[in-house]
Amino acid sequence: MNPNNPLKQYFRQPAIYIKLPSQGNNYPAGSLTMPPTGELPVYAMTAIDEITYRTPDALYNGQATVNVIQSCIPDIKDGWGIPSADIDTLLVAIRIASYGHDMDFNSQCPACNHESERTLDLRTVLDSIKAPDYTKNLAWGDMEIYFKPLSYKNLNDNNQMQFENQKLLQILPDSAVPDSEKMTALSAALRKITDITVSSLAQSIAAVKTPQALVSEAGFIDEFLKNCDRELFNQIRDRIIELKVQSEMQPLKLACTECNHEYEQSITLDMASFFESAS
Ligand SMILES: [Zn+2]
Repeated sequence: MNPNNPLKQYFRQPAIYIKLPSQGNNYPAGSLTMPPTGELPVYAMTAIDEITYRTPDALYNGQATVNVIQSCIPDIKDGWGIPSADIDTLLVAIRIASYGHDMDFNSQCPACNHESERTLDLRTVLDSIKAPDYTKNLAWGDMEIYFKPLSYKNLNDNNQMQFENQKLLQILPDSAVPDSEKMTALSAALRKITDITVSSLAQSIAAVKTPQALVSEAGFIDEFLKNCDRELFNQIRDRIIELKVQSEMQPLKLACTECNHEYEQSITLDMASFFESAS
């Protein structure tokens, strides 16, 4: 931005200020400039940001999300480094800054199929998002295991690889490939999915402390997960799932206006559906 531009006063101004659930912890060095107040200014999307979303390729590889977050929340210098627990907060804040805090959505009662239009106040969503407690370690014999959140880069890479392998598993049975080759390809895809799962668990481990060493190298941790006791593996996996659930948005509790049936509906913030409905 050119500080001498006489039109500067007409540029967009911060619409809201937000606190990060992570409080800025677990950001790689240089990826976040935390203001002294601890509150980050959030700007509305520009026309260019809106166009960025409508590029399906950019959405799929996560680049659109990164670009728009960096544009609307300039204190975030590298969107790929954002810890996963902060992503929802940032997206909700950008939506509030751009389109206001009310979000309309349709809901269908699972009991009587009655459809109704609802409005969600996104400020209550912001207030309800909590950061998981990563300070609690897992003790196992003489070993201690420390956890950390996935970065947006980890999250996006894993989702993309899972998606590609699952697509392969779906199309392969009907393809013209000879059966013997199908089996090889299927088992390769299944093995790949297992590998991705293990490596995303490894990426969630900050360090393993033994009486002899403090290990934080991703490669060593990955190998350890592939070779450790099944019971220990399951405990690590369950703890990581528990941490993930803590940061997820709670489903909305709704009551049908027609038959009073009470039910829950989850809201998703994936870029395509979350922002498309606003325009
Ligand atoms: Zn109903």
